Amino acid sequence: MSKRILITGGAGFIGSHLCERLLNEGNEVICLDNFHTGRKVNIGHLFSNPRFELIRHDITDPIKLEVDQIYNMACPASPVHYQSNAIKTIKTNVLGMMNMLGLAKRVGARILQASTSECYGNPLEHPQTEAYWGNVNPIGIRSCYDEGKRVAETLCFDYHRNHKVDIRVIRIFNTYGPKMLADDGRVVSNFIVQALQGNDITIYGDGSQTRSFCFADDLVDGIIAMMNKDGFTGPVNLGNDGEFTVKELAEKVVKMTGSSSKIVYHDLPSDDPTRRKPDLTLAKKELNFSPKVALEDGLKKTIEYFKNNI
Ligand code: NAD
Ligand code: UDP
Repeated sequence: MSKRILITGGAGFIGSHLCERLLNEGNEVICLDNFHTGRKVNIGHLFSNPRFELIRHDITDPIKLEVDQIYNMACPASPVHYQSNAIKTIKTNVLGMMNMLGLAKRVGARILQASTSECYGNPLEHPQTEAYWGNVNPIGIRSCYDEGKRVAETLCFDYHRNHKVDIRVIRIFNTYGPKMLADDGRVVSNFIVQALQGNDITIYGDGSQTRSFCFADDLVDGIIAMMNKDGFTGPVNLGNDGEFTVKELAEKVVKMTGSSSKIVYHDLPSDDPTRRKPDLTLAKKELNFSPKVALEDGLKKTIEYFKNNI
């Protein structure tokens, strides 16, 4: 049945994929964004759809809307962007989360929070299961995001316990794909853009740190499955459990783009997690989630996107 759905951060990378998918499924979609890292071009092709609406708004201010479901995606995800205004990042994660939970409570909407693998910090357990409480520096340069997202999870569970708000919490692991910003600062977009422009490929540290990269389409499948699953609040990990070093990623991108770019090494930023890979057992059991797109196939589509968009 068609629903009225609010997507905060809907003009961003993941949010814009969600807008498109949920409209295609026949829903009414309200995209709300302050355009910090989001762009109208990500959603421009949806403007002619009468079931689509765009609101320029900042979630740190309250808003009144009648909706059935809220996907709370608003928050810059790239370290460069979330550190550029750390206090604003905390406000988005705390005040913004409270405003969205307040809205969900008032209108009886189900709310899904886009949390993150950063809740595990620089993890001492590998792979990371949802039962792991993390190893997070509370005062470092990543803390505005990590601790902000951890408080946001706490708020979700307190609104759930105290006010019966119908919450869903997902912990997203590194996701990539078309519609990322070219100058976003994240590793996949950086390497592809550098390779396509013939610039140096900038590895931070020695490149031995690992990440697990999920293609956006797979993630969107998991997000929607979680929103529509009854009787399960999460938190649940969503991502891809293939694990690659940053150096392996750089080499793959250089090879796949046929680039003449050189790999260069820069200092590793502080608190950069050394290993990261999701344990997806819970997502498989509760949501029948298993990512389908292999890294090379996803990179191929992302390279194609950047070829046409830079
Ligand atoms: P993004 O930066 O592309 O999108 C975030 C969107 O939120 C942007 O459109 C931005 O303008 C908007 N926004 C930021 N602050 C806002 C505010 N105060 N009010 C209204 N809008 C605001 O990032 P993304 O990769 O699409 O990430 C979406 C969500 O998923 C974020 O909450 C992020 O923390 C989470 N997440 C993403 C990843 C990933 O790998 N992409 C991993 C873990 C978690
Ligand atoms: N990274 C890198 N070069 C870049 C951008 C990032 O080596 O140009 C590294 C970064 O230090 C981290 C990993 O790639 O170890 C993933 O970084 P990203 O910012 O994409 O996401 P994170 O998982 O750190 O939030």
